[in-house]
Amino acid sequence: MYAKNNQGITAEIDRLHKNTGVKRSTASNYIYNLRQMLRGELYQRAMSVEATDDFLAWIHRDYGADGLKSAVSALEKHIPYFKKSSPSPMTGHVAILKKYEVSLEANIENETAVIDLLERPAGNSAPDRAEKISFFIRRDPEIRKFVVKRSNGRCEFCGCEGFVLPDGSKYVEAHHVITLAKAGADTVDNVIALCANHHREAHFGADASKLEAALLDRLAEINKQSRSTA
Ligand SMILES: [Zn+2]
Ligand SMILES: [Zn+2]
Repeated sequence: MYAKNNQGITAEIDRLHKNTGVKRSTASNYIYNLRQMLRGELYQRAMSVEATDDFLAWIHRDYGADGLKSAVSALEKHIPYFKKSSPSPMTGHVAILKKYEVSLEANIENETAVIDLLERPAGNSAPDRAEKISFFIRRDPEIRKFVVKRSNGRCEFCGCEGFVLPDGSKYVEAHHVITLAKAGADTVDNVIALCANHHREAHFGADASKLEAALLDRLAEINKQSRSTA
């Protein structure tokens, strides 16, 4: 699939080689990494923070959100793999990973649904990643709508009320507790409405993994309640 579509990126590699004198062997490592990124699989060859950032941006541009999802998933596998063989803490790569996780979610939030929901949507607990040859995930804008409605304009974690939007509703952000790139489900059991502050902390906080566990507990509570009252 990449052979057909990656002219944009190979052209960038060519330009990189000509303009900066990057070796062809480096370029070929990059091509290997690119292939793995598009498959969402582990890539083993080292890549600088800057090149990783560029590649994810190019993939996003050329392959859209589905391509980016695969690339983020590949980077997620690359970081622990690389840490094993080098003393580097990979902080730059981790920062890139967080940045694109957020941009994946933002893509989902930009989707608008026309149907007003009164019922708990079924969602998609096993997102289909094998349509045609490319990897993709079915995103459900109804899930976001449902979660925003369920929150009643308050952070479902701390309870604080969002500011008022032009349409009179209150601002909250929908967060996938287990990220889509980690194969988290796009269902109401994995999506929580958060205030902007808690949302950023969930992605960038030093204690993000502790917060993740707390968010999952909170979601379990919320979903138990909504099931018993439905
Ligand atoms: Zn909050
Ligand atoms: Zn989020």
